Amino acid sequence: MTRRRWIADQWDESHATLSGSPAMHLVRVLRARPGMVFDLVAGDRVRRAVISEIEEGAVRFLLGEDVEAEAALPITLVLAVFKFDRMEWAIEKVTELGAACIVPVIARRTEKHLAQASTARVERWRRIAREAAQQSRRSDLLRIQDPAPLKDVVGQAPHALRLLLAERERSVMLRDAIEYEEGGASLPEDQEIWLAVGPEGGWAPEEDVLFSGEAWKPVSLGPRILRAETAAIAAVSTLAALLD
Ligand code: SAH
Repeated sequence: MTRRRWIADQWDESHATLSGSPAMHLVRVLRARPGMVFDLVAGDRVRRAVISEIEEGAVRFLLGEDVEAEAALPITLVLAVFKFDRMEWAIEKVTELGAACIVPVIARRTEKHLAQASTARVERWRRIAREAAQQSRRSDLLRIQDPAPLKDVVGQAPHALRLLLAERERSVMLRDAIEYEEGGASLPEDQEIWLAVGPEGGWAPEEDVLFSGEAWKPVSLGPRILRAETAAIAAVSTLAALLD
């Protein structure tokens, strides 16, 4: 379970200060008192922090050990390349929602000119993800791999729970795949989950065969056909609600 993190406004090696509305929230709503312990983002580190002093509009902390700054959610999104403006929107939103990684793939139905332009585009995608991470106060960055053909990606991460978002699937919903693992066991807390979302035209039949050859599990987001960017956001937010 990821504990709520606060982002310090000022810090040095041993002390940090939180001010403004997060400080007010901490004091008024969460009734913070000296001695209480929180996780605090101080620059590029997350530290265990004990409240040492509460003043008008500011909370001061004594900084302790490093807390592992892991990805908020252990989710990798395999995202077929589709129209760049919509794809950029999806990248921004899944970063806000806490996904750890995006693997852009060239699918059979990715338009040719988009496939060709995608390698040059990845730096811009990384910039969008960085800005979204800051804006949403993540303590880590979402990683974006270089675009690759699906056949090079489909066999990666055999240890992960790999879910194929498939509009033709009718019986297994995404949340069922998380809540009712085979044998009734629930997922380990840090279980890695890979999600694959197809391009505007959907996955081609031979791609479905590639996925099933690697034992990806087809799951549904409901009876309506969603645009690729909607499917990506709906899938990550469903998992966020179940995992956070
Ligand atoms: N072939 C579709 C469009 C594909 S939608 C058509 O008939 O026009 C693009 C991608 O979004 C799909 O490849 C799938 O990964 C995902 N998707 C869309 N709706 C979905 C749903 N209801 N359940 C699961 N995935 C869905």
